[in-house]
Amino acid sequence: MHPFDYVRVSTVPEAVKSGSRESAKFVAGGTNLIDLMKCTVERPAHVVDVNALPLASIEAVSGGIRIGALARMSDVAAHPLVQQRFPAVSQALLLSASPQLRNAASIGGNLMQRTRCPYFRELIWTPCNKRNPGSGCSAREGENRMQAVIGTSDACIATHPSDFAVAVAALDGVLTLHGPKGERRVNAVDFHLLPGRTPHLEHDLAHGELITSVFLPDAPHAAHSSYLKVRDRSSYEFALASAAVGLALDGNTIRGARVAFGGIGTKPWRARAAEAVLIGKAATVDVFRAAADVELKDARGYGQNDFKIELAKRTLVRALGDLAGGAA
Ligand SMILES: Cc1cc2nc3c(=O)[nH]c(=O)nc-3n(C[C@H](O)[C@H](O)[C@H](O)COP(=O)(O)OP(=O)(O)OC[C@H]3O[C@@H](n4cnc5c(N)ncnc54)[C@H](O)[C@@H]3O)c2cc1C
Ligand code: SF4
Repeated sequence: MHPFDYVRVSTVPEAVKSGSRESAKFVAGGTNLIDLMKCTVERPAHVVDVNALPLASIEAVSGGIRIGALARMSDVAAHPLVQQRFPAVSQALLLSASPQLRNAASIGGNLMQRTRCPYFRELIWTPCNKRNPGSGCSAREGENRMQAVIGTSDACIATHPSDFAVAVAALDGVLTLHGPKGERRVNAVDFHLLPGRTPHLEHDLAHGELITSVFLPDAPHAAHSSYLKVRDRSSYEFALASAAVGLALDGNTIRGARVAFGGIGTKPWRARAAEAVLIGKAATVDVFRAAADVELKDARGYGQNDFKIELAKRTLVRALGDLAGGAA
């Protein structure tokens, strides 16, 4: 571990000021940052502890709910407002990590967590454009079973690991950020960046900017939503493929649809092409499959992860079928 200093802040302006210093990093639950500091992938000179900030509330606001960035994953998952109005969000959190991790980890940190690509985290410093820009990508020709099949580039094929971020992207979440230039809002679907030629740039977040809250807008498809996660074991494991889905049904007809994939994309993957196929159609397995085929038509495997393309399609068909219930 590299040497660093530590400061605990109690107001947002203080956090922004301390976090704006060169090579400073915020820490919340520490379940990702400290891990990466131990293997020296992250080497902040200043660690700014934001846990004393008053940003842990979960409350109803006009048009939806607001979740403070320091709310713990377990508290958000168990909150009645989230369970009733945004079940996909609660389910995505409950299917994440382990109870101990969910008790410690914040939702701001969850959105900011970094990839689990083994070459990114490895102690033997193999080429990795995300860790060391310009060095190459070891995963393309190497271990890539867990890597992405959509949104990839020549520079990086790492999967985004968050489940929560997938549900928030599907349900039109909006992040509030506070930074040296003041407050701004970013749609969750735009917050995570595609790797392109710069895989080390992962978010629309300036240095020193802090996520302060996540707003989730009420909608019929949000109240009727779910999250399905397929993984190698049933607990404490990242997704091979997952789908956050929301449907507003009028009898058997789909009036509103929201879809996002996890486990297969370099960012939480909002599936707008699939949504366009679903709207106005009958809720049938054939329609669900057509939506999955359209969304994944440009997906590309790298050998070991080829299976993810078909798995993602089947995950979406099952998620939509379960949600539509008798309608499908
Ligand atoms: C074994 C294991 C299994 C896991 N399985 C899953 C899983 O299945 N699904 C899943 O989604 N996740 C999983 N995780 C990841 C876990 O959910 C994240 O580590 C956690 O959510 C990070 O939150 P944190 O508060 O601990 O973040 P920290 O480690 O404190 O911070 C992480 C990053 O976020 C930044 N940060 C923190 N808060 C803010 C803020 N408010 N504004 C701006 N930047 C901020 C930090 O600077 C740091 O870069 C797993 C983790 C482990 C260790
Ligand atoms: S996939 Fe991305 S994170 Fe993994 S080795 Fe390649 S560049 Fe690094």
